[in-house]
Amino acid sequence: MEKRELVIIGAGPAGLAAAVYGRRAGLDTLILEKGIAGGQINITDEIENWPGTIHSTGSELGEAFRKHAEHFKAEFRSCTVNKIELRSGSKIVVTDQGEIEAEAVILATGASFRKLGCPGEAEFTGAGVSYCAVCDAAFFEGETIAVVGGGNVAVEEAGYLTKFADKVYVIHRRDEWRADRFATEQALANPKIVPIWNSVVQSIEGEGVVEKLVLRNVKSGDISDLPVAGCFVFVGTEPNVSYLKPDNSLVEQAKGGWIVTNDRMETNVEGIFAAGDIRDKYLRQVVTAAGDGAVAAMAAYAYISGQLHLRSVLIEPEEVIALFTSSIEQRQIDLQVQAEKFAKESGKKIAFIDGYRNGKMAEKLGIAKLPALIEMKKGAMARCEEPKTIEDVKKFVG
Ligand SMILES: Cc1cc2nc3c(=O)[nH]c(=O)nc-3n(C[C@H](O)[C@H](O)[C@H](O)COP(=O)(O)OP(=O)(O)OC[C@H]3O[C@@H](n4cnc5c(N)ncnc54)[C@H](O)[C@@H]3O)c2cc1C
Repeated sequence: MEKRELVIIGAGPAGLAAAVYGRRAGLDTLILEKGIAGGQINITDEIENWPGTIHSTGSELGEAFRKHAEHFKAEFRSCTVNKIELRSGSKIVVTDQGEIEAEAVILATGASFRKLGCPGEAEFTGAGVSYCAVCDAAFFEGETIAVVGGGNVAVEEAGYLTKFADKVYVIHRRDEWRADRFATEQALANPKIVPIWNSVVQSIEGEGVVEKLVLRNVKSGDISDLPVAGCFVFVGTEPNVSYLKPDNSLVEQAKGGWIVTNDRMETNVEGIFAAGDIRDKYLRQVVTAAGDGAVAAMAAYAYISGQLHLRSVLIEPEEVIALFTSSIEQRQIDLQVQAEKFAKESGKKIAFIDGYRNGKMAEKLGIAKLPALIEMKKGAMARCEEPKTIEDVKKFVG
């Protein structure tokens, strides 16, 4: 099976930043992408908050990110990841083009648009219903259309749509938008944008193409028709985690499927990291995705280096005695200190391993409980005991 050091899934801003940092740290880095490198930003025309660039189209920025990763010789592969499996402690990335064993994996598969789920939405997708203003705005030159949503993306994309449409209704279920003040003020000052407050889309109707939306006022319950030629849906996003299904049991996920990490971007599975919009986090933007990617790559580098070190200490020598202790249990820390003193005074060689931080290595070796004293011969376990005191250590070492 193909073996790689760092496998990054997803070539959006998070994955591409991770690739730059991974390569600069000297890791063998493979990026798997099922679509176009750059990710979600490819479908917006307005990026004005990437520091150092006052204005860029999303595809220009995505292209620059990709070129940057290529410059440092990250390897790209066009494929879809269908599953990640843990087999005897190894991480196997299952793609539609074969399996790859990875030392570390960064999940950077981002997020996708949430659907309204109302009648007509699926039927008219591509026939008036759209989730991408940059892709479809030009079809609505001089028309009256609607945007559904109230966050930054909805309000900013409504502004972009007014370059083509004559009138853009922005339908929101509350009486104010969630977008930031700058975006809100810009939209409200735009004479082509007409907010419709406290309303939800009950159905999308027409003969072959969208002709009207049926709206329900959530306060009064009133039902009304809104004639429009198109409907752009921007009602939030959901994480792209289908490859973690069907049971979502590989890594810890928060409500909605967002992946839980610590501030090193580590998931609860050793050697699996997550970065970007896929994470359970406060702000999903290019700048935070890129920051996550950088952190994840450096944490992956530290993890891989640690694993290589462990292998060179435990597996490669002809013979080795090692003491595995937990760095969070005082009694075990005390035992390690005593054992270190004994090794120094007696000249005996003992490798000291934090079995808490290197749980997977302990598991791989078949260590069920800490502390553990082991003797390895030619990479295989020869003896394993649980030392209660320093006397047990002395006896084991002989
Ligand atoms: C319309 C719109 C406008 C936006 N405007 C701005 C803005 O002005 N400023 C800003 O900072 N942010 C903006 N954003 C948000 C920004 O695009 C995201 O925060 C950012 O792209 C997240 O990066 P990411 O790398 O985490 O994920 P993504 O960009 O979502 O990239 C994930 C990548 O993973 C790939 N992938 C998914 N599943 C798989 C799989 N199973 N196998 C292989 N590959 C897979 C996808 O194809 C995708 O390329 C906007 C988003 C949208 C949709």
